[in-house]
Amino acid sequence: MSSTSREWIRQPIIVVMGHVDHGKTTLLDKIRGTAVARKEPGEITQHVGASIVPASVLKKIAEPLKKYFPKLQIEIPGLLFIDTPGHELFANLRKRGGSVADMAILVVDVMEGFQPQTVEAINILKEKRVPFVVAANKIDRIEGWRPTPDAPFLETIRNQSQRALNLLEEKIYRIAGELYNHGFEAERFDRVRDFRRTVAIIPISAKTGEGVSELLALITGLVQQFMKKKLVTSSEPAKGVVLEVKEEPGLGTTIDVIIYDGVLRKNDLFIIAGKSKPVVTRVRALLMPRPLQDMRMHEGRFTQVEEVYAATGVKVSAPDLDDALAGSPLYVIPDETKLQDYLRMVSEEVSELRFKVESD
Ligand code: GDP
Repeated sequence: MSSTSREWIRQPIIVVMGHVDHGKTTLLDKIRGTAVARKEPGEITQHVGASIVPASVLKKIAEPLKKYFPKLQIEIPGLLFIDTPGHELFANLRKRGGSVADMAILVVDVMEGFQPQTVEAINILKEKRVPFVVAANKIDRIEGWRPTPDAPFLETIRNQSQRALNLLEEKIYRIAGELYNHGFEAERFDRVRDFRRTVAIIPISAKTGEGVSELLALITGLVQQFMKKKLVTSSEPAKGVVLEVKEEPGLGTTIDVIIYDGVLRKNDLFIIAGKSKPVVTRVRALLMPRPLQDMRMHEGRFTQVEEVYAATGVKVSAPDLDDALAGSPLYVIPDETKLQDYLRMVSEEVSELRFKVESD
């Protein structure tokens, strides 16, 4: 590597999981809305397949929480949220020995409690050893709830009747019980003494925004306290995963990639898994959504960049991507003499993945 090699702390990669209709999409929209509305001019918040809540926004959000979390300093450059919630996308975030996701938010509807896909999500998170917090969503549906839009939870509870508070308490208690049945100690976040042993439950409403600031502040705090080492990356050849394979008008087949380590540049030689054999090709273009566009609507909405840094979501255009496999690892090959090593490594890593695809 060149002498200009440098290190930085990257954004932790966060996924949102939970049962259908419990509010995953609404929560992601709320978080994205917050990030867009509160960002500084020029800050990029929309990536391909992911959104970033930048540090400046985390600082603004954490401001009203100072009295509750006096020691919270923002040291990470932001949080990267995978835009599409759910289990299928999570499966595509695999990497050797675990998941590219650093942390998960498990959304549980407070009125409904645990449902089959909640249990499924817990089992996946356990298996992949991804730490998580529980967002107990839809607190605004508790009988008699008096919402204060976007207020911290610890503020909004001061406006509630004793009856509403008791009802909430019951629901949280029930969720904690469910978690206990799956092997986790859990408590409302403001009562947790040791976050390494106890799963934090944050009561929120994705609809009114109540509690969402604490959810983001808590994730930030947890990541900074327990994961900072894991988030150190450097200007090394990129490592990533293929989140989705997509046809784009005028571009042919492209791959949406989450880069979790290093730097990806135009013209870089890289390897990914293909449906029949590994694909080795070069980056033709790196594409990011144009600012202020909804990234779920594509055509002509991308802008080219020369390089991207972890952590990021980016669309990669390159020759020979027709066979690309979603969920495949992506490695930049710094030195063509090492090609055989990379071929072996990718083949090994995906043999299990391909087996799964073929048996579907
Ligand atoms: P997903 O399937 O988990 O992505 O759930 P959605 O985000 O699509 O939400 C399912 C339904 O619940 C939608 O009608 C949302 O408007 C509603 N919803 C989500 N969050 C809240 C909330 O905090 N309060 C209320 N009252 N409704 C919510």
